[in-house]
Amino acid sequence: MQVLLSAAELASGIDRLADTVRREYGRRPLVVVGVLTGSIVLVADLIRRLECPIELSMVSASSYRGTATAPGRLELRLDSLPDLAGRDVLLVDDIFDTGRTLEALVAELRRRGAASIRSLVLVQKAGRAEVAMQPDFVGFDIPDVFVVGYGLDFDGAWRHLPHLAALDSADIAAARVGSAPRPDAHRPTPVDPAGDART
Ligand code: 5GP
Ligand code: MG
Repeated sequence: MQVLLSAAELASGIDRLADTVRREYGRRPLVVVGVLTGSIVLVADLIRRLECPIELSMVSASSYRGTATAPGRLELRLDSLPDLAGRDVLLVDDIFDTGRTLEALVAELRRRGAASIRSLVLVQKAGRAEVAMQPDFVGFDIPDVFVVGYGLDFDGAWRHLPHLAALDSADIAAARVGSAPRPDAHRPTPVDPAGDART
């Protein structure tokens, strides 16, 4: 497992995203819609940096495919959304990969009459987009690797790592043969003094 973005790098990325959101909306009230489950850490960090009135709602979208590159069928659950008619909505997700999740969610939010809809993601993977839309705000561009940590899991594991890590083939193979995550896998990766962390 290799650290792609350290906790400190993530924190400054969220600072930058929050500045952009503040500039975009000023003090206008905002409905923040987070996509479960991968966006929970991002949402928690982001909303605490915003000063406008916020109503938070979480929706769920799953197209679980492990590390397979082709997404499965997308299932959306939007039952806890408030009335969006005439409101400004910020949709927050962990990753923009093929883009199919955000595209479907934006269409659904639009159907509910939101006055404006912007989307924000922590990371966007290079060369994977299959849709015309682009997220409005992107924290980081990353290569086409499978990432875990900072809310993102692999088969339920590694969500709570404070950094974002790329799985290597050994991690994936270990998970595929059904073994539990390695005993050390949940411990934060030590960061060396040069700021270049690895396991
Ligand atoms: P999209 O619809 O953009 O292809 O996929 C977005 C969703 O797929 C993300 O919200 C996330 O749940 C999942 N996903 C895509 N790439 C990764 C990845 O590298 N790691 C993890 N843990 N999930 C991913
Ligand atoms: Mg997701």
